[in-house]
Amino acid sequence: MEPFAFSRATDAAKAISAAARSSTAQQGAEVRFVAGGTTLLDLMKLNVERPTQVIDINHLPLADVERTPDGGLKIGALVRNSDLAHHPLVQRDYAVLSQALLSGASGQLRNMATTGGNLLQRTRCVYFRDTNMPCNKREPGTGCSAIDGFSRTLAILGTSEHCIATNPSDMNVALTALEATVVIRGTGGERRVPIGEFFLLPGDTPQRETVMMPGDLITHVILPPPHPGARSHYLKLRDRASYEFALSSAAVVIAVQSGKITHARVAMGGVGTKPWRSPEAEQALQGQPPNEHTFATAAAAALNNAKPQSENGFKVELAKRCLTHALSTVAA
Ligand SMILES: Cc1cc2nc3c(=O)[nH]c(=O)nc-3n(C[C@H](O)[C@H](O)[C@H](O)COP(=O)(O)OP(=O)(O)OC[C@H]3O[C@@H](n4cnc5c(N)ncnc54)[C@H](O)[C@@H]3O)c2cc1C
Ligand code: SF4
Repeated sequence: MEPFAFSRATDAAKAISAAARSSTAQQGAEVRFVAGGTTLLDLMKLNVERPTQVIDINHLPLADVERTPDGGLKIGALVRNSDLAHHPLVQRDYAVLSQALLSGASGQLRNMATTGGNLLQRTRCVYFRDTNMPCNKREPGTGCSAIDGFSRTLAILGTSEHCIATNPSDMNVALTALEATVVIRGTGGERRVPIGEFFLLPGDTPQRETVMMPGDLITHVILPPPHPGARSHYLKLRDRASYEFALSSAAVVIAVQSGKITHARVAMGGVGTKPWRSPEAEQALQGQPPNEHTFATAAAAALNNAKPQSENGFKVELAKRCLTHALSTVAA
């Protein structure tokens, strides 16, 4: 049987081929998929997104969470954020993911928002959402209003002279620390993309945020089996306690054996133009005792290449403290 072995595979294939005419998950495509609608419909009301055709994918059988044969987890693209956060296997084996999801948006939004839609949610940069203002991400070549403008909430890592917008998702940060794989079904068949390669840096094409191609449908996200003995944690710092995006967040997965850190995965949110994995922090943790000195060294390494703008310099120290605190919590 084909890899896209759904009972409604024909519907899915039709959706893909209709979307392939002129759709990508990026800005400006004429044909778009809609799942929960909490990003897409918002942006359509603001006139930021102007698709001529919207394809509802909610009837596709992609709403299950299943164990994989190797002990990992296969999450359907239409699994709602609430259902995923409260799934017993996620709570037991991937606590960082459950915590990240529950820190996002509001209960009502999480009941609608899907795994696939969350992966592809757009930046909250105010200029992106205001069609009166120049924005390279919305209209390539018009300029970036944020660089000399309101940059307080924007990125300090992975920026370019063309865009400094943050990826706003909490879920994506946890998926990055968990080394998830995104399963994509397109006109050429199925491909599996490690999450570290799924998101693109803005460079001189900030309108292109992911490796998604015209007609691509995200079908699943796959998590590897939990690392033996590892514990995980998500910490989110923001202007108010709910219904707010991260100024800085940290997703950490740590295993400790005989007083030494034997496994470390670190990702940060609210500071990067994409969910920000920090190999520098992971290297600083590996083989070291789990103490304040080690955590502070790792946090300093993670922010070493930060390039703040005029209004978001505070994020450098905030992100260091966020990461140090998340590491202390998980190692306690
Ligand atoms: C007020 C408010 C507050 C919020 N706060 C937070 C927060 O604190 N943290 C956070 O992380 N998020 C937050 N969000 C964002 C929210 O998590 C996203 O809007 C949601 O996850 C998007 O999922 P959806 O299913 O509704 O996507 P949709 O709006 O349906 O789709 C989003 C995009 O993904 C594409 N798409 C959807 N599914 C697929 C698929 N399977 N394959 C290919 N393309 C697909 C659509 O074409 C569209 O481009 C907030 C949103 C709002 C409105
Ligand atoms: S930071 Fe990016 S999204 Fe914001 S105005 Fe500049 S180009 Fe647009």
